[in-house]
Order: sequence, then C-alpha cells, then structure tokens
Amino acid sequence: MLHLTDGQHCAAVVDERERRCWPVAELLPGFDGDILALIRDWERIAPRLAPSGHGRPLDEARCLAPLRPPRNLFCVGKNYRAHAAEFARSGFDRTAAAGEDAPEAPVIFTKTPQTVIGDSEPIPRHAGTTAALDYEAELAVVIGRGGRGIARERAMEHVWGYTIANDVTARDLQARHRQWFLGKSLDGFCPLGPWLVSADAFDPARARIRCWVDDELRQDACTGDLIFDIPTLIATLSAGIALQPGDLILTGTPAGVGIGFEPPRFLQAGQRVRIAIDGIGTLQNPIGA
Ligand code: MG
Repeated sequence: MLHLTDGQHCAAVVDERERRCWPVAELLPGFDGDILALIRDWERIAPRLAPSGHGRPLDEARCLAPLRPPRNLFCVGKNYRAHAAEFARSGFDRTAAAGEDAPEAPVIFTKTPQTVIGDSEPIPRHAGTTAALDYEAELAVVIGRGGRGIARERAMEHVWGYTIANDVTARDLQARHRQWFLGKSLDGFCPLGPWLVSADAFDPARARIRCWVDDELRQDACTGDLIFDIPTLIATLSAGIALQPGDLILTGTPAGVGIGFEPPRFLQAGQRVRIAIDGIGTLQNPIGA
C-alpha cells in the first residue's frame, strides 16, 4: 500500500529496481479494493496487473503497512537453533523444558492486527510498560488460498507471497506473564513491509536475512535454516484452524537479538532497526520517544 503525493492511499505494483510504481486502479480500471481484495481474487487479477507506461516515481510515494491482516498474526518462536540456544541462556524463556535446546514441535503464539505498522513508522517505546524492548527480524508468509487440513506436500500452493516482519518484543512482559501474547502484542509491535513479494518471485529456501541496530549488524542468517519449514508450519496450523486469505505467519527469528548479548542490549529511543531480506527489500523503523 502506498501513500501518494496527491494524498491518496492505494494498492500499487512496485518495481524496486527502476524505482517506479503503478496504482492498481490505473492498471485495472474500476478496482477500488485493498491488498486483501487482490489476494482473494489473485488468480483472476494477476494476469492483468502487468505494469504499462512509465508509472510514477516510487521515491515520491511513502510505503504504508502492506497488509492489515483480518485477524491475529500467527507467529513461531524458537525456530532457528542458534536463537533457541541464546534464548535459553538468557533466562527470559519461562516456557522451555529443562535442558531443551530446540522445541520438539513448533511453538505458536499470536500478535494482534493492531501491532502492524509500516516502513519508517516509529516503533512505540512504551516506556512505562516495558524496560526490555527487543527486535526480531523475520520472514513473514502471506497465505493466499485458505484451507483446513493442508498437507505438507500441498502447503506451498497456499502461499501467496512474502514480506519482512519485525516481531518486536517486551522481554520483561514475555517472561513475567509466562504466555508470550502480552509481551508480543503491544500497539505498534509489528513493523511489516516495505511491500509484499508474490511467491513466484522469491525463494524462501535461500534468502539471506540481516538485521542492524543503527549501523551495527546484529543478525545474519539464511531463511532456509528454519527448524520447522514453511510447509510444516502450514500443516501444523491448518490441522485444526482453517487458514484464510491474508493470514500472516511470522516464521521465527535467527540468533543475534538483544537478549543474546551479555548483558542484554535492549532498544533505546532514537535508535533505528533495519532488516533486509535479499529478494524482498529493506524494512526500517526508528524507536519512538
Ligand atoms: Mg519472533
């Protein structure tokens, strides 16, 4: 979703390399829906979305959150081995069995849709509520075709595409309240974007994911190193919950979060978190006052 210079908010096709964008309504006269409408009707719409003409300069537009999911975001905890180990060492994990170095089944929690903010929007500091603000760079999967009881072998047919998420976490709340929901769901705790990339244009098995705080590289891994891969996550979730178009699955974060350091290095007002996934783009957000 883009905010254009004329004040209009619209779904648009983006060419990052050429720095151009095309409002969907200009390619599909009469279209007045959002990204969710595109995803729901993708098979019919996609062939008609080829950009034509020069479009508009991308640099004159501002990226808004690319998707406002229809319900809570599904998230996966401890899904990279080195991160599971750093979390266990940190003392902030109240959920692991003694001596457990990686979970035996996917650890699933959710974040509310109200956590979602766009690229460049400040992450609220929530200073009176948490003293332990942390970042988590993640690959997010966007569900296209819904369904229940989706088999691993057919799971990728249900993926519409991908984006970048920052699973911002209040570590003190996550530990104190045992269940993770509260520490993960403060307003503004899920920067998402800068845009969505459709499944045909991205290979999640090989992408490099990196995260910087200011200019210091903190996380550097491959999205193919998940303990539980994307088909397993879709099969696990859909076994008893019908997935819907526009559902988001945050696949987990690699090692290098703030609690991985000794002492922990929590986010401070004025710092900037920048996450890059090769093949998708860069999502960056300042920490608000
Ligand atoms: Mg996470």
